Amino acid sequence: MYKTYLVILFLILILGFSAFLILGRLPFSMRGIDYYCERTDGSFWSEPVNALTNLSFIVAGIGAITLLYKTGPKPLYMWLLADLMILIGIGSFLFHTFATPWAQLADVLSIFAFQLIFLWCYPRFAMEFGGLKTGGLFGLYLVLTVLSFWIPFDLNGSEVYLPALLMMGLYAGLAAKHSPSGTQLLIVATILFAVALTARTVDMWWCAAWPLGTHFLWHLLDGVVLYLSWLSLYRVEARAGVSSATA
Ligand SMILES: [Zn+2]
Repeated sequence: MYKTYLVILFLILILGFSAFLILGRLPFSMRGIDYYCERTDGSFWSEPVNALTNLSFIVAGIGAITLLYKTGPKPLYMWLLADLMILIGIGSFLFHTFATPWAQLADVLSIFAFQLIFLWCYPRFAMEFGGLKTGGLFGLYLVLTVLSFWIPFDLNGSEVYLPALLMMGLYAGLAAKHSPSGTQLLIVATILFAVALTARTVDMWWCAAWPLGTHFLWHLLDGVVLYLSWLSLYRVEARAGVSSATA
């Protein structure tokens, strides 16, 4: 019952928040979308490297699901996050091939669904914070996301990911104090996420000198970031399973 309530709550949050993001920020023209250095025309395979490096998310998702199948029962959110890694790979592949608003929607929805679920579940279940404290942290993330719309400089669209980076850094700091198990993974994931976001940001800036761009590095690194973040949560779950089995 509690899990069903959690899933419904998250779905409402995901849909509402995503609609807000998309309607407020993203272009809805029916023309093809070209945000990336590698794309040179509107054809399906104009971004082959950007498209194929989304395998990073698929591999991360399959790795997580394999681990879940091998071990004992795990909460629904662990499965949801693992499935979402694969959906991110598919959504991003669609966006880097079809390059249309509906494909962008598939990309953005899966990414923010992962962010929302992870940023709620980590303090709630890995750090065992109460609902109020978790809600406060989650509220901070939402406020930072709204504020990111008004960042007065151009980061090539990476602005929307800054709140997630800040929250990961904050969680890594808090986790080091409250629940050391798995914290190192989250710290490594946060550092890698900063590097990945830098690669995403400079894609167009280096385009004249390097026509492939650097967006593909964002995909490759971000797949690792998602897996390590997920594994950090998994380690706490695995430890909780062991302690309850031996209690
Ligand atoms: Zn991409």
